Amino acid sequence: MEFSSTRSKELKVSFRDAVLHCLPPDGGLYVPASMVDLRPFFLYMDSETTYPELVATVAPVLLQGELNPISAARVAESAFSFEPELKRLDSNLSVLELHNGPTGVFKDFGIAFLAAVMEELLKPAGHAMTLTATTGRTGVSVAHAFKGRAGITAVILYPEGHVRGLDPSTFVNNGGNILPIQIQGTFDDCQRLIRDAFEDRPFAERYGLTSANTINVGRLLPQVFYFLYAFIKIKKELHGDLLFSVPSGNFGNLIAGLYAWKFGLPANGFIAAMNANDTFGDFFRGQSFVPHSPVRTLSRSMDVGNPSNYERLAAFYNEAPAVMKHMVYSERVDDEATLAAMERAWKRYGLHLDPHGAVGFAAAERLLAGDIEDGHVVVLSTGHPAKYAELVTKVTGKAPISSETLDNLQKEVAPVAVIPARLDALESAIAGAL
Ligand SMILES: *Cc1c(COP(=O)(O)O)cnc(C)c1O
Repeated sequence: MEFSSTRSKELKVSFRDAVLHCLPPDGGLYVPASMVDLRPFFLYMDSETTYPELVATVAPVLLQGELNPISAARVAESAFSFEPELKRLDSNLSVLELHNGPTGVFKDFGIAFLAAVMEELLKPAGHAMTLTATTGRTGVSVAHAFKGRAGITAVILYPEGHVRGLDPSTFVNNGGNILPIQIQGTFDDCQRLIRDAFEDRPFAERYGLTSANTINVGRLLPQVFYFLYAFIKIKKELHGDLLFSVPSGNFGNLIAGLYAWKFGLPANGFIAAMNANDTFGDFFRGQSFVPHSPVRTLSRSMDVGNPSNYERLAAFYNEAPAVMKHMVYSERVDDEATLAAMERAWKRYGLHLDPHGAVGFAAAERLLAGDIEDGHVVVLSTGHPAKYAELVTKVTGKAPISSETLDNLQKEVAPVAVIPARLDALESAIAGAL
């Protein structure tokens, strides 16, 4: 399958180019350019299939000519030491837990695949460097996924006071390939530095710069896999319609679900579950989208006023507006309803949810009580409840179970370099460290 830009259908590149260059030259975002029918490969898989098995089967079909089945099996095995878990709550409702990775958020799945597939694509002797701006968690996920990957250096930029949870034995100065740099500035300064670094063409080309942020389609495409996985786990007991409730901020999960549908997932609809930042609701109801400044909510990873996947969703709508109108339901769940959903999930099902998952849960309940007569909704649990231990305990009266890895996320670590927020400083820090 080739990838084109949201701004130009004529521009077509390989998966390798899309992953290693990250952004098309026209300023758009890469999207799948063609249709692939995955149905013959997953529809009849039995429910015992493991996640790496599923990935090893469908990835080479999506990436035909670029990733053969043997490479795909190697990628799947080395990426996924953790799996999604489908929990059936009753005949109408399930949760797909995507918070079992090293940092307790679904983003671990995309990052893990990106790192493993990049290593494979660079064989035998290529090299690349990923740049990531983060205030913490994503940095841990990137460091975990990229550590020891041949040919790749992972540079992670942090604002002051946020370098946490990393393992110093993986750092470049200790013979590893992880380079955490603290910027004397804000998160916005880190993002601006990354943009500047990409625009310095000679520098970008010398190091083979790419991004491990969500704009990279190498993180987005593997999110398709867990929608298929959910289907093979519940298909036996399925009756009526199948829907997914997706807690949404930048809409990466939602667009990945729509791609899964395009590739043959027998889904009847998706719920765009949003917190008070629901400016996309108008867009789903057929009006134009106007960015807003975000407001703070309990589900803070969804406090997004200008979602970065807007262009990808708009491109999808342009292709099939009529289908889309009947495929995506939007729901707005405020903080009060979020807390009530956390409490109900615990009381009814003994299930702990974090505030993000609870937004999806509340939205699913509403649809089941209204628009859908006979159907099953799978709620994506995008974040681990133990990361909101205090709130979860207060609402449910019982502390969520944590893990050592999650507890370690908060431990402060010394970065390899501390530099001012200037491109020349970043470039010399990188040159000096390698
Ligand atoms: C990032 C994140 C989201 C939002 O996901 P998008 O793909 O950006 O819509 C939801 N929940 C949690 C816990 C997150 O970390």
